[in-house]
Amino acid sequence: MSGQLYTPPEHNKSAFHCPSCQAYANQMWGEALSSFNSSGLQNIVGVSFADCTHCRNRSIWVGGKLIYPASSLAPPPNPDLPEEIFDDYEEASRIVGDSPRGAAALLRLCVQKLCKHLGEPGKNINADIASLVKKGLNPIVQKSLDVVRVVGNEAVHPGTIDLNDEPDTAIALFNLVNIITEAMITQPKMIESLYDKLPTEKRNQIDQRDL
Ligand SMILES: [Zn+2]
Repeated sequence: MSGQLYTPPEHNKSAFHCPSCQAYANQMWGEALSSFNSSGLQNIVGVSFADCTHCRNRSIWVGGKLIYPASSLAPPPNPDLPEEIFDDYEEASRIVGDSPRGAAALLRLCVQKLCKHLGEPGKNINADIASLVKKGLNPIVQKSLDVVRVVGNEAVHPGTIDLNDEPDTAIALFNLVNIITEAMITQPKMIESLYDKLPTEKRNQIDQRDL
């Protein structure tokens, strides 16, 4: 995902990335009302709605938690995320609301598979990252890989970060996986296709120059 950073849906927030249309849009909040009873129209305590001003769809919140549409705290995956990683990413998206720890562990697996996709053995992420660094890996991408690796490790081993206390940390990892995909897959693909459109003569001159 490029452009604006993902803003997850949050209770009573005036704008966020809509769980229905994925656009960053203003949200109109309202409380759920029950039918009339002897004391008049009553609020159903703890139930609220947000209407998206972009797609007009409604999200439903109970006790400050998004319950519909489901699984939408995480940003959508970069469309260039390799197919063999897509399912793990989607599963992490579905569970992050209930188990940030489980999501972080799955995202660590995504990074392990991304290293393999980039030509590394994919058995030991630490060694794979070191090998990518030797091949000239962009330091920002290296740091993104290391953050997902370290936080993902904390999820499966007793550590110092309590992920379930801080869902924001797990949500940030989704952004990092998308940043890695953007830098390592989307951008090279786009640049190669532009380069291929240069006249053959110009490309030959460049090849000669670089000998
Ligand atoms: Zn919307």
